Parts: sequence; structure tokens; C-alpha cells
Amino acid sequence: MARQITLIPGDGIGPEVAEATVRVVEATGAKVEWERVEAGAKALEDVGQLLPDDVFASLEYTHVGLKGPTTTPVGGGHQSINVALRKKLGLYVNFRPVRMLPGLKTRYSDVPLDLAIFRENTEDLYSGLEHEVIPDVVESLKIITKAASMKIARACFEYARREQRRKVTAIHKANIMKMSDGLFLKCCREVASEFREIEYTELIVDNACMQLVMRPEKFDLLLLPNLYGDIVSDLAAGLVGGLGIVPGANLGDRHAIFEAVHGTAPDIAGKGIANPTALMQSAVLMLAHIGERAAAAKLEGALRKVYAERTHLTGDVGGPAGTGEFTEAVVSAISERE
Ligand code: NAD
Repeated sequence: MARQITLIPGDGIGPEVAEATVRVVEATGAKVEWERVEAGAKALEDVGQLLPDDVFASLEYTHVGLKGPTTTPVGGGHQSINVALRKKLGLYVNFRPVRMLPGLKTRYSDVPLDLAIFRENTEDLYSGLEHEVIPDVVESLKIITKAASMKIARACFEYARREQRRKVTAIHKANIMKMSDGLFLKCCREVASEFREIEYTELIVDNACMQLVMRPEKFDLLLLPNLYGDIVSDLAAGLVGGLGIVPGANLGDRHAIFEAVHGTAPDIAGKGIANPTALMQSAVLMLAHIGERAAAAKLEGALRKVYAERTHLTGDVGGPAGTGEFTEAVVSAISERE
């Protein structure tokens, strides 16, 4: 029986990188069937809704989604589709492994870098609770709860134990936000005390950013509330070649949605030059999640081979190829592994 996956292509470069990813997943021989649903600009155009009910209906049935990026207007307009999906489906973990691919020339090419981000995904300043108190004075509510903080901390430490990782660093600003970030830290410490074999440290977010740029190899797992997690994810992507590379998984107790860290990249959308690696690497996580371990290993191996060869890489990572040429190189590398 093929496993059904909800495919949400998204906006901007989303459909380009989604089609490329579908192509390589199918080349692995994984037993998956795609249920395509639209969310974002295309859905608004087609059915007048940004997040139509059939997206939830499909995910309710498949429990697993692969999603391209969707636009969120700046300074007004509709709320983020991602935030809505994550909250409604209880996808409280945002997991982003940050690893160097072979052959990639970055400022950190010679650094043995292997870290992963655990970002709380449902609250903090992403609660969307903003209002004007009096004219020209606006308040934005930062919500931190014990329940959500315990859940993300537990997910991070359980992963550390399962994958034999050495260290968890909780990142905060509890020197200033003593109550909210203070509660987050309290929860991290409580969970850490149950996992004595894993080293636990804490860093203030500004210092953490500096340390990540200067000594990224010192880090292993990073545990963060939502906003710091969002910002530090892009910083970490920059260490390993940029947003074209880093995958992600939004995980809850019943559902999982796999998507890249990057956005819709409107500056390059429709040009056929987007790097689909980040969504392909998200698909590697997805395949492992649904038990298609051989297909996951095939796709991961093929990506590493194409990067090591360097001849078919996209422009954002210094290569001459477009999305199509890169994708076909990955397909060839998969068939060579058969
Ligand atoms: P972005 O990630 O879209 O782009 C930042 C820069 O990285 C751009 O120069 C872009 O060309 C480049 N880039 C990103 N992905 C790339 C890829 N795969 N290949 C090559 N280059 C790539 O960030 P932004 O410009 O801040 O955001 C644009 C839109 O995306 C906004 O509406 C934002 O809300 C949305 N967004 C969505 C998600 C999501 O759906 N998960 C995540 C982040 C941003």
C-alpha cells in the first residue's frame, strides 16, 4: 500500500522546488502517493481562501505533509499560513538539522559542523496578539507557557538520547524577559535534570549568535523559543551555504509537515534557478518519518554525490545549473545507486 502524503506546493519558488522534490522522491521508488492541495496565493485566487478546509481534511487523513513556502505579507494583510497550520495541528516542534554538504565552498567549509535546532513552534511573539493601546502605542504579547516549553524541551532531550547527541544549549534572553524567558529556562532545566548523561548549557541569545558565527563547531543541539529559533535558523543556514540547503520538520503528536527553512524567494521565483536541496532534504526527513528508510538513504546519498561532484549545483551555492539540471543530476545519482 502506498503511503498518502499531502503535498502543498505553496507560492513563489514553492511549486518549482516542490515539483523537483516529487521527481526525486519518485525516483527513489518510495511507495508514496501525493494528495495535492493548495494553500496561499494560488488558493486565494482559486477558491477565495488562503488556507482552504481541504488542506486540513487531507492532513487529517494522511497525517503527513510536504510543504513549499507560502507568502506572509509584511506589516499588514493576512496572518501567516505556517503559524495557522502549526497552531491548529499542534505541530509544537520545529526541527532543523544543519549540516555541511560535501564539496560546498562556504566560509566554514573546513569546520566540522553538525548541529540541529529545536524551535518551539506554537507560541511566543507568534501568537499574533497585537493591539494599539492608545494611538501610536502598540502592544504585542509574548506568550510562553509551561506546557509548550516542557514539550519542546522534552522533544529535544529525547532526540538527544535517541540519536546519542552530546549537548543541549538552551538559548534565551531571561536576563531581560525574566518571567517569560525565565519560565522557558526553568522548563529546560527541569527536563535536563532527567537526562543527566547529556550536557546542558544556557546562552543569552545575542551571545549565542556571536558564538555561532565564531565557533559553530562547539554547538550540538540548540533549544529555543519561537522567535529566537526563527532568527537563529537563518543564521545557521548561512553557515552551511544559505537558505537553499537547510531542511525542516514541524512535528506534533499526530501530524508532521516537512518544509524548508527558506521562504518564497520572490526575487528568483519563476526563473527556474531556485535550489530545491532544502525541500529535498526535508523529503529525506519525511521518508525516514514514514519508515521509507532505504528511499531516504538513497536520496540523501544522491544529494551528497551531486554536491561532491560540484558540476550540477545551482547558482546560490556557486554552481552553473538551474533547478531542472540539478534535479536530473540527483535522479541520475539515485539510479546509479540502484
Ligand atoms: P526567503 O527565504 O524567501 O529569501 C531570502 C533570500 O534567500 C532571497 O535572496 C532568496 O532568493 C534566497 N533563497 C531562499 N530560498 C532559496 C532557494 N531555495 N534557492 C536559492 N535562493 C534562495 O526570505 P524572505 O525574502 O524574507 O521572505 C519571502 C517570503 O517568504 C515572505 O512572504 C515570508 O513571509 C515568506 N516565508 C515563508 C516561509 C514558509 O512558508 N515556511 C518561511 C520563511 C519566509
